[in-house]
This record gives sequence, structure tokens and C-alpha cells, in this order.
Amino acid sequence: MDIADKLPGVGTTIFTVMSRLAVEHGAVNLGQGIPDFQPPPRLVDLVEMHMRAGLNQYAPMAGDPLLRERIAADHAARHGVAVDPEHEITVTAGGTEALFCAIQATVGPGDEVVLLDPAYDSYAPAAVLAGARILRVPLTRPDFQPDWEALAAALSPRTRLVVVNNPNNPTGQVLDRASLDRLAALLEPTRAWLLADEVYERLTFDGRRHATALAHPGLRPRCFAVYSFGKVFDATGWKVGYCIAPPQATREFRKVHQFVTFAVNAPVQRALADFLAEAPGYGAEVAARAEARRNLFGRLMTGTRLRLLPSHGTYFQLVDYSAVSSLPDLEFCRQLVERHGVAVIPLSPFQERPSDDRLLRCCFAKEPATLELAAERLAAL
Ligand code: PMP
Ligand code: GLN
Repeated sequence: MDIADKLPGVGTTIFTVMSRLAVEHGAVNLGQGIPDFQPPPRLVDLVEMHMRAGLNQYAPMAGDPLLRERIAADHAARHGVAVDPEHEITVTAGGTEALFCAIQATVGPGDEVVLLDPAYDSYAPAAVLAGARILRVPLTRPDFQPDWEALAAALSPRTRLVVVNNPNNPTGQVLDRASLDRLAALLEPTRAWLLADEVYERLTFDGRRHATALAHPGLRPRCFAVYSFGKVFDATGWKVGYCIAPPQATREFRKVHQFVTFAVNAPVQRALADFLAEAPGYGAEVAARAEARRNLFGRLMTGTRLRLLPSHGTYFQLVDYSAVSSLPDLEFCRQLVERHGVAVIPLSPFQERPSDDRLLRCCFAKEPATLELAAERLAAL
């Protein structure tokens, strides 16, 4: 039987490919964004407790009401943002499902979606499946900030969605409040929704505070904001995230969500609700630990010929390898894993087309021993 190719040009994601190669070659894996340490033990205990207590059937479609309340309280406490847990929060199977549902809910054939390039890999396929056309606006070098004129030029009456990832994977850059002001001014005359991918919101460094689109009065009414507990609690395998959007947008979002997953893992949701109340300061500790790991990675890499670009957030850092090789990034990364035993992620898959950048992305959410071993191997380059 023949089958249509609904996602031409899409293969297996680079994260899966590199993790598989890392296993095959016994490499240190600084590729896929996965911590090599465990979530807080208390959180694991809470999941077990709720499973044993019998919380093992479908959760409510929009999410455990207690978790939604605690999420609202958390956003109020940290950002002074008022969110209605009943009508504005939907718990999803990770940030990925939230991104997918927001895109399906907002765009269709004839609509345009604007992405900032390099962009996280899941946005474009979701927009293509919805039948929308994608326009990519390059982030400027060397600091990967938006090119406001180019963004203004890309917007038109056909623009239905603009996707902004802050803090940014893969660049590690963050947008400040002034950038959100500029974004709001550009979007103001349009009918474009904003998809604010803020899954790394708690991971900002060097005293920078995350500027959430939800706290911006110009952006809030047009914003779907997406979060991931996997990133906050070092439990990427649990796949629980959520989306915050105005009530009417949330209604449309839930129409999609109910037929994608219907509802999310019940005991994990309740455990997260408990943990948010028990340990409200945990997110700040996570950021401090991530910053220390970034600093260690930076110190270790001074022993190599690779040059680090600054990372102000997420748990990723771009690395320039032009002093070591002139190979295109995909080939260089393949050699690195096969010959030197270190897996990293090339920048190209985040971009519309490969550029002349000689950049790769390293994940520093790793134990010191892992980073040390990687640096030792990279020093041989
Ligand atoms: N957005 C970005 C920018 C990400 O890096 C990721 C994955 N780490 C996600 C969304 C998806 O998050 P989740 O793993 O919760 O699906
Ligand atoms: N977000 C993770 C990263 O950027 C990967 C998630 C995935 O493998 N889909 O590494």
C-alpha cells in the first residue's frame, strides 16, 4: 500500500540519531538534552506514594485541578502573573505536546508561521502537518538576537503565528523585557498569535531574570506559553508540561489536546502538585546548579581548541570548532562521536539550510565526571 509523505525531508530527529550513535560508540553524550543525574528523591517518593494510594486511572482532561492551582500560584509568586487555573492552564504530555496542540489550534492552510532560525526542531513539522507555510527569520550573529527589521518584513496579514523560544535552545541566549516590548509593538497591528516556548524559564544565569511573555500586557492576550516539568525537575522522561493561554484560546487548544493524549499521567501530576507546594524554592536551586555546571564546562573547555559562545540560559552552549576543522557540522559531529567518543549536536538541523557556521551544541546538564571525561577527549582534537 502506498502512503503519503506528509513530512517530506523529515527523518529521525538529530537528538535520537546522536544518542543512538553515542551508545554504539560508547561515547560521552553531551548531545540530547538529558541530565545524567536523578530528579529530587522526595518527588520520586511522592509519585510512588500516589501510585500505591490508587491514583492510577485517567486524570481530568485539562489536568489535575490541584496541579493547575499550584501552577497558577507558582506563576503568581515568581512573576506576579495572574492565571486562571480553570480556564487558562492545560497539562500536557511534555512541552512537545503543548507546542503541537498550540500550532494545530492556531494555523491551517493559507496561514503563515514565522520561526526564528535556528529554531527548536519540533515547530516546523507541526506547522507543516497543519498545512501552514513557514517563514524563517535568521537570528543575528554573533549574539543570536532577533533581527527586528527582518521580523517586521516577514509579518503580513497571512501571519497567524510567531514562535519565540526564550531562553533559547540551541543558542543559550535570552530575550530581555525590552525585546518583548519590540516584539509586542511588531505584533500589535497583526492577527498573529505568539507561541512562547519558555520550557527553560527557570534556567537563566548571571543574574538575568527570565522575562516571560505572560507578564507583558501587549503579549498576554495573544500568547500561548509552554512549559515543561522535565526541565525543571531533571525528569525529562516523565513528559509532563503545560500550556497557559487566554480562555478562548485554551478552549481551542483543549479540543486538540483531548484527541492527542486526552489526559496526562495521573500520579506524576499529583506528585508535582505536592512538590510545588512543599519546595517552592526548588527552581532557584536548579538554576544555581545549572549555572555551576555551565561554569565548570567553561573552565574545562579552556583546555581544548574549541571556543565557547556565551550561554545565558537553558542547559546548552554553542561551541565554535573552526580552529579544529573546516568540515560541515553534521560530518564533524559524526567524526567526533566515532573517532573521539564524544556526542554533541550539530547546529544545521535547527536551521532551514546549513550555514557556514562551524558550530555545535553541547549539553552541560551532566555530572562533573561526565564533563571532565568529555573535556579530556576533546582536548585531543
Ligand atoms: N521546547 C524546547 C526548546 C525544548 O528544548 C524541548 C525539549 N527539551 C521542548 C520544548 C519539549 O519539552 P518536553 O521534553 O517536555 O516535551
Ligand atoms: N529538547 C531536547 C534537546 O534539545 C531533546 C528532546 C528530544 O529528543 N526530542 O536536546
